[in-house]
Amino acid sequence: MSEGTNESHSVSLPRVIPVAIRLALVPVLLLLGLAGYGEVSWPVALASCGVLLVASGAVAHLWLSDLDRATALLQQLRDSGVAEPAVARLPSTAPLFTGIHHVGRAWREESEAVRERLSASETALERLPDPLLVIDADRRVVRANAAARRLLGDSVLGRDLGAALRTPAVLSAVDAGLRRQVETDTEFEMPVPVARQYVARIRPLPRPMADGGILVLSLYDVTTMKRSEQMRADFVANASHELRTPLAALIGYIETLRGPAADDTEAHGRFLQIMHEQSQRMSRLVDDLLSLSRIELNEHSPPTEPIVVGIIARKAAEVLELRARQRDMSVVVDVALDVPQVAGDEYELMQVFQNLIDNAIKYGARGTRVRIRVGRVQPDDVAANPRLRQWATFVSVEDQGDGIPREHIPRLTERFYRVDPARSRALGGTGLGLAIVKHILNRHRGALIIDSEVGRGSVFTAYFPPVKLPSAEKPAPRVDAAE
Ligand code: ADP
Repeated sequence: MSEGTNESHSVSLPRVIPVAIRLALVPVLLLLGLAGYGEVSWPVALASCGVLLVASGAVAHLWLSDLDRATALLQQLRDSGVAEPAVARLPSTAPLFTGIHHVGRAWREESEAVRERLSASETALERLPDPLLVIDADRRVVRANAAARRLLGDSVLGRDLGAALRTPAVLSAVDAGLRRQVETDTEFEMPVPVARQYVARIRPLPRPMADGGILVLSLYDVTTMKRSEQMRADFVANASHELRTPLAALIGYIETLRGPAADDTEAHGRFLQIMHEQSQRMSRLVDDLLSLSRIELNEHSPPTEPIVVGIIARKAAEVLELRARQRDMSVVVDVALDVPQVAGDEYELMQVFQNLIDNAIKYGARGTRVRIRVGRVQPDDVAANPRLRQWATFVSVEDQGDGIPREHIPRLTERFYRVDPARSRALGGTGLGLAIVKHILNRHRGALIIDSEVGRGSVFTAYFPPVKLPSAEKPAPRVDAAE
């Protein structure tokens, strides 16, 4: 660090003398010349020369001292970017000091702006939701943003990438990037803590960074995308499989009717009955598939019509009354007095209640009762199950059947998921009923909660959120309970 620039500098005599002599040289030679020609007496000339030399020495001292201080200021600027204020001692050196201070200020402003730009870029990189790492020529991680440190651990910095990411495909792609400057995208899976799919993007840099980084590695979590791709593929495979079975049966019977059984009138009736059932099954499947895709298209825009769900539940029960009777079952609808209205789509809600009641009839035991309850979610219900806090209205469908083993319950609303596929098909099920229910309730911002006890039966409850409709203030009209 240089010494204080405002303190007087001791400038050594050997530096001052040559400068002083150069300053005084011309007048001294003039005085000596005048004395030589007798124009001035020698004592006067010599005394004047002495005075001139002393004065030049003083000026040279001040001048050299200002130069030294200016040099010290420039050194300060070079070392720390700031120079302390200093004033020139001679008017002739003042512009030098002013210039140095202007350069100092401009330098400070420029480095402040650069620092701000750098910090903004650092913050953006740090906050990037995807993991990003910068690798040097020895494959060491020289930078890792917060997402990368969260994924690979804080110790990733400064170490070989292979210590944190043990995926041979990614490491060899990074090695290739470092050696041959090739850009690659590599898919890989991280099995822990939960299996997730990633795409690693490897991008060599055109020029090495100050910290030695020569390659950027970014990781993108594509688990959700892969899962939905898989679901789409599974869905197409399942739907084709579901259609192929009745179609194969139809083709088989048609061939039999045209060939071996062409003249067997007794077989005709039987075969046509089976063909009728199979084509009905295909038709139900196509209807359900179309319903699902229509509901999915609308799922983001919730319905707004105020609906009295008790009336819809009662209509759905009436539609299925005959079916219940065929199995010696009864359907009871019990609607409370103070049921809040629901913002809903009447046709879709009808589909929800019909699917749930139809399942209760299908899977309930012969001769038992299906009970439908429509009501307001009560504070007691919320106290017993805080999950219910967000709901205002419920419609439950309860059956007395075999019940559902606990491990199947979370998957029942998946398309084509069945506890017992053969039984479902034999009962005319498409495996899409509960998926339709779930999507309709999603659109209504509601939920389906399934309670079941093996050997006793199941309760499927649809919950709906409260609505802020002017007409929702007063309770819905009472819908008389009837069997
Ligand atoms: P499905 O057309 O097969 O009935 P759903 O989507 O309606 O299709 O139901 C999916 C599966 O959930 C059914 O196959 C059945 O195993 C089970 N399930 C649905 N409702 C009930 C119920 N009330 N009692 C027992 N199991 C049920």
